[in-house]
Amino acid sequence: MSTKHVYFFGGGTADGDGKMKELLGGKGANLAEMSKIGIPVPPGFTITTEVCAAYYDQGKKIPNAAVPEIEAALKKVEAAFGKTFGEPADPLLVSVRSGAALSMPGMMNTILNLGLTDASAEGLAKKTGNPRFAYDSYRRLIDMFGSTAMGVEHELFEHEIHTLKHEKKVKLDTDLTTDDLKELVKRYKAVYKKAVGDDFPQDPRTQLMLSINAVFNSWNGNKAIQYRRIERITGLKGTAVNVQAMVFGNMGDSSGTGVAFTRDPNTGENVFYGDYLINAQGEDVVAGIRTPEPIAKLDSEMPKVYAQLMGIRQALEKHYTEMQDIEFTVQDGTLYMLQTRSGKRTGTAAVRIAVEMAKDGMIDETTAVMRVNPDSLNHLLQPQLDPKAKVEVVAQGIAASPGGASGIVLLSAEAVVAHAEKHPKDAIILVRKETSPEDVAGMDKAKGILTSTGGKASHAAVVARGWGKPCVVGCDAVRIDEAAQTVSIAGHVVKAGDFLTINGTTGDVMIGKVPTIDPTMTGDFGTLMTWADKSRKLKIRTNADTPADAAKAREFGAEGIGLCRTEHMFFTGADKAEKEARIASIREVILAETADARAAGLAKVLVFQKKDFIGLFAAMDGYPVTIRLLDPPLHEFLPKDDNPKGQEDAARDLGVSVERVRARNDELHEFNPMMGFRGCRLPIVYPEIGDMQVRAIIEAVIEVKRQGKSVLPEIMIPLIGTADELTILKKRAIVVAEDTMAKAGVKVEYQVGTMIELPRAALMAGPIAEEAEFFSFGTNDLTQMTFGVSRDDMNGFRAAYLKEKIWAVDPFESIDVAGVGQLIDLAIQKGRASRQAKHGQHLKVGICGEHGGDPESVFFFHKVGMDYVSCSPFRVPIARLAAAQAALGQKAEGNK
Ligand code: ADP
Ligand code: MG
Ligand code: MG
Repeated sequence: MSTKHVYFFGGGTADGDGKMKELLGGKGANLAEMSKIGIPVPPGFTITTEVCAAYYDQGKKIPNAAVPEIEAALKKVEAAFGKTFGEPADPLLVSVRSGAALSMPGMMNTILNLGLTDASAEGLAKKTGNPRFAYDSYRRLIDMFGSTAMGVEHELFEHEIHTLKHEKKVKLDTDLTTDDLKELVKRYKAVYKKAVGDDFPQDPRTQLMLSINAVFNSWNGNKAIQYRRIERITGLKGTAVNVQAMVFGNMGDSSGTGVAFTRDPNTGENVFYGDYLINAQGEDVVAGIRTPEPIAKLDSEMPKVYAQLMGIRQALEKHYTEMQDIEFTVQDGTLYMLQTRSGKRTGTAAVRIAVEMAKDGMIDETTAVMRVNPDSLNHLLQPQLDPKAKVEVVAQGIAASPGGASGIVLLSAEAVVAHAEKHPKDAIILVRKETSPEDVAGMDKAKGILTSTGGKASHAAVVARGWGKPCVVGCDAVRIDEAAQTVSIAGHVVKAGDFLTINGTTGDVMIGKVPTIDPTMTGDFGTLMTWADKSRKLKIRTNADTPADAAKAREFGAEGIGLCRTEHMFFTGADKAEKEARIASIREVILAETADARAAGLAKVLVFQKKDFIGLFAAMDGYPVTIRLLDPPLHEFLPKDDNPKGQEDAARDLGVSVERVRARNDELHEFNPMMGFRGCRLPIVYPEIGDMQVRAIIEAVIEVKRQGKSVLPEIMIPLIGTADELTILKKRAIVVAEDTMAKAGVKVEYQVGTMIELPRAALMAGPIAEEAEFFSFGTNDLTQMTFGVSRDDMNGFRAAYLKEKIWAVDPFESIDVAGVGQLIDLAIQKGRASRQAKHGQHLKVGICGEHGGDPESVFFFHKVGMDYVSCSPFRVPIARLAAAQAALGQKAEGNK
């Protein structure tokens, strides 16, 4: 631990700077940086995150060495601000603010007006000639200090102010007189004493030390832990504490407070964007209690302040070369900046800002590529509400986070969590008056969020934008009746469970469901992708089974198909008749009692498979297409015993008895299909199935070649565990392929390779690579088989494993680098070495599991030297960007 525990800032100097986020937290580091570059910041000091770690190490005690440093820094603040802490006649008041290295909106508690006591409240009243302000500040302190530092329920204080307003027959807090507020202070102190057991502390230093403790404690509060878990934030030391001289936005009509973004965080447009309130303090703007004014209006209300603010907006962007999210307060016409940080933004905005900044020469192209979080592209890839759909807009709120969402209405975060647990596929719209940090778990599970109060900087808006969820806030037409579990929207009554649609791009609210359309990749999005492509080494392919998916993926930049699952073709069809004919054809094969009957069925299957391959190959003209031979166990194609009607229909369609269908089902029944009669085990036993598939592939390639198109088919054999399986099946595939080409009189290129999805295959990669022309890691199965966990049977323990941190993340979402990754790395090295030694060839290696679209995993696949990753069509741009960042990240490290 460093010997310095406390860092001063203010008056144009600072002990720290903007780079010291780990130690000073984001807020503290940026307050120091702003002070250094001459931006007006009230003086203060930051207690480091190391002190927080030491606090926990010592059983929740502030280390002794830090205490005199705090005292010394406080002296410096007093000197810089010209007031003394604890001096009753003209007191220095401070705020105590949390701030970790990464911003965690609303997670930590801030205490304002600290240092006020009975005596100094009176002093402040006299000194400012504004007793109303003094007592308003005092009652707020008792509330904030009581509720955040001492665990008194905030509701108890709220109850007192409501009661008093009722007694005085007034509506607004601002209608309470000085005497009313003095009375309120008395009642708040009584509430405090009853809950805490002690009087509200009249010693400012006691208030200060208890508040610092409270900030440290909040680091391990439920809300903070939950947020870190959802955002996968690990490895931080703790939170810093910022103690800063108070400036007051609630001193009258020449004072105010606001929050703003230097550019529009929804769209990325280069306009000043935010809200402010006159005569207000702290969280009033974001709490959604009073509806704030748009920032542009400040130009007419306080032109000088506005001009200065515009100058600071520019200075900050230029200095940080990044869009900033700022907080400011105006005290009696003087502007103070209280915070700056990079602004959270939607994926759409992230792309636009990065591209525009690069075009303006503020940053270079590779910086622009590094600026956009690959996952945030999801936002641009979300379905949008179909503009052609006929909709009735029943109300309009503030467009807070773009995109359209339809879902069932639920009225509390708990209800969302409970519903999502039972019905994870249901889309839910969370409807609230406002949201708070307690709601994040429910917000995470909701598809969209609608609130009746709050502005663009409200909690709901900030969190939704961060997560790329459609959100509409401040929709006053929405009235929630929790007791009745209904929402009335401009006269329409919507019950919990009914469908509602919101458009976060326009602010529109609609009753019922609205159809959506697929996004396209144009404009700034396209530009950023071209820049990304210049850097990446990995090729990006797609997993696609239909020509439509293949075409979509091509639009998104896929460079081939890394996985076509042939079994999916039996469950689709151009129309109902074809769909029925397809499934019937494979059932005929499965139910056949003689080789001849099986051959007749296979001939029918071949027609469909060939047709599909031609479509896929044509869509992927010029690129490789990996076709996996039939993988699932055969019983998956038969109607089960719990579907007697399906069994009767199948028997009738195929002209066999229903008893035959049932008997075949019984024969094929497996206790553990994941490890059963599937993958390469099928063509080992029924070679004619594999033969038919190879023939269909080669005939399709020949057909496509005749159309003047070219494609490299890669015949992929699944679930190989031994080299012998591959030797047998490859020999057979070559015989069939050669025969097919000879019959057609056309030669085409093709390759035969394997999936690596069993731990044994990874270990035996050397001998397998002597046969295989390529490896494709099936990381879903490889993860299942390595962990011994079936993805479909982990509901009972998944949550517990994540909670206990046995799994930092679900290994099916992000590759388990330590374990499964080790097998992958080993298999690549062994396979490549063996292929090189035996054939003098480079072994092509890719991955086709769902991890191919996960940025963290893509980083790993780049590192171990894969040639490509393959992911679902809508993840292709995400994988392209992640691959570029992986390549750039490695370059940067290499340059150090
Ligand atoms: P958060 O981490 O939730 O953003 P902050 O520490 O920024 O919390 O505090 C919340 C609000 O309190 C700030 O936006 C600002 O309006 C007000 N505030 C904090 N410190 C001061 C101060 N020294 N003077 C005036 N207002 C302050
Ligand atoms: Mg803040
Ligand atoms: Mg598999």
